[in-house]
Formats: sequence, C-alpha cells, structure tokens
Amino acid sequence: MYEGAVQELIDELGRLPGIGPKSAQRIAFHILESDPEDMKKLSEAIRVVKERVKFCSICFNVSESETCGICRDERRNDTVICVVEESKDVMAIERTRAFGGRYHVLGGAINPINGIGPEQLHIRELIARLGDERITEIILATDPNLEGEATATFLTRTLRPLGIEITRLASGLPVGGDLEYADEVTLARAIEGRRSTAISAPAAPLVRSLPVAAPTPVTAPAIAQPETERAGTATAPDIATEPPMPSN
Ligand SMILES: [Zn+2]
Repeated sequence: MYEGAVQELIDELGRLPGIGPKSAQRIAFHILESDPEDMKKLSEAIRVVKERVKFCSICFNVSESETCGICRDERRNDTVICVVEESKDVMAIERTRAFGGRYHVLGGAINPINGIGPEQLHIRELIARLGDERITEIILATDPNLEGEATATFLTRTLRPLGIEITRLASGLPVGGDLEYADEVTLARAIEGRRSTAISAPAAPLVRSLPVAAPTPVTAPAIAQPETERAGTATAPDIATEPPMPSN
C-alpha cells in the first residue's frame, strides 16, 4: 500500500476495464512522473467528456447533441437497423463502410450474473422505433459470445411477431487466418454458414461431401435446449454448434 493519494489513484485506475493491479500501478507512476501540463490535459479531457457527451435520444450512440451524426444523416438507409451492444461496435461497423443503414445501441448484453436483464437494455426503445413502417430489416450484431447470443435469441423471439426480417451477422474464419488453427466452433460455424461463390459454381455438392458439415436437424437442439426457440436460417448456425461445446 502506498500513502494516500497515490494509492487512491491506483485504486481508481484499477477499476477501469482491462487494467489489472500491475498496470494500475504502472500508469499511476507514469502520471506522477509526467509533465503537469500533459496531465492537466488528461484530467480536462475526462471532465469535458463527462460533461458534454451524452447518448443519442434515438439510437443511444454517444453524441454531443440531442441526436447523433448517424441519426441526423439523411443520406442513410432508413429501412435497416443494425442492433449492437455498445457505441464502439457502431464505430467498428462504420469503419467497414459496408453498412449504410441506421443503428440501435442496446447499452450492453443480457448477463444474469451481473444483474443485466432485458429491462436494463434499450430494448423497449428499439421496439418503439420499429413502429416506423419503413423498417424492413433488423440486423442483430451482438457479440459472438454467451451474452451476445442470449441477447440475440431474446431479441429474435421478441421481435419476430412484428413481421420484420431479422438477420444475424455471419460467423466464420478471420481473413488472413489459417484454416488449421481455427477452433472447432468457429470452423463448424464457417461450414454451416457457407455460401455459394457464384450462381453457376458447383459449390454445394463439394461442400456436402465433407463429413462434418450436415447441420444438426432442428429437432435435436430443441430437445437439448427447450427454451431456445430460434427463428429461421438467421440463427441456425448457433443451434448446431452449441451441443459440441461442453465436450471441450
Ligand atoms: Zn443516433
């Protein structure tokens, strides 16, 4: 334990995500040894961000005004909403330049252990937005982990009665990766989520000859997981990959 202020700073830094006790100590001493002017800029930046930045009243992305730049942009496609967990996911998708629709930031994912249920997320606001008849598709872009999958399953079940097309991001192999180093779950999803390379290409017969490929019949997972009622092809890949997981 250090004296007073130093320990206080280490404790506060240690509460930040991804910063362990050692990093907290290293950063604290970096701050101590740094030029006071630079550190004044840092603390000012923290103060200003807390004061000025709020959340968009439509999509809950971070914004310096009532609505964010994406919601204000009239050139964007009003028919598709991409649902993400955090504002940083909006940035990640924006960097791809592959999506020109609107967003909805949930503010996290369903995580019963941490006390986060659907009520803690901006799901009610999403449903309210779907009253807009122009919207024809919802893309569920939650993280491909347990919490993200649970959130996507919940949203699928909740939104399906609205009659809007619900899609999920494809799961698969990282570009630049090596097939033999991919884990089984990722590789299995890549096989299940395969798509034809061209209309005339004979891709399907070739892939069918793979022994692993055949997706588990819909009835099997229904027995294994009675509570997961999944919709259509969009979430089909999850079903088949879940049963093998406990064997790892
Ligand atoms: Zn917005």
